[in-house]
Amino acid sequence: MKRKKVIALVAHDNRKEDMIEWVKWNWRELIPHKLVCTGTTGKLVSEALFRKAEDNNEICPEVMRLKSGPLGGDQQLGAMISEGKIDVLIFLWDPMQPQPHDVDVKALLRISTLYNIPSAYNRSSADFIISSKLFHEAYQPILKDYSGYILRDLGF
Ligand code: PGA
Repeated sequence: MKRKKVIALVAHDNRKEDMIEWVKWNWRELIPHKLVCTGTTGKLVSEALFRKAEDNNEICPEVMRLKSGPLGGDQQLGAMISEGKIDVLIFLWDPMQPQPHDVDVKALLRISTLYNIPSAYNRSSADFIISSKLFHEAYQPILKDYSGYILRDLGF
């Protein structure tokens, strides 16, 4: 991944306030990068960033909005991760409430781990990622070699 990163932001409803607070706190670090969000999170994130940028005479980056999470947004994000289009995932998920799209949530957690992208699933991990020296540098995550799996003998 390059210095300018593609950062995915997703927050469940009970974590949206946290996400917006986090975005406002970190807006300066975020605006040089490209942001991709699930639908509702994206609406709130772009409003918060727009206000911060306007107040400080900065140009607000465009936020790419996917579908809302329960309507396929998590799956769109998962597909983008598998295609190498997402560098960092900040996913503030709600561990206290079942979601209609629980299977998609699990899939997003899995695919971000599979592709070894830096991923934060709670706010303190998000703080650690954004304040890491590596966040501001080019970085190449090491991918496991799955060729053995791809070329496996199916026995027929
Ligand atoms: P939302 O989706 O940003 O559209 O609310 C988040 C999610 O539940 O995955």
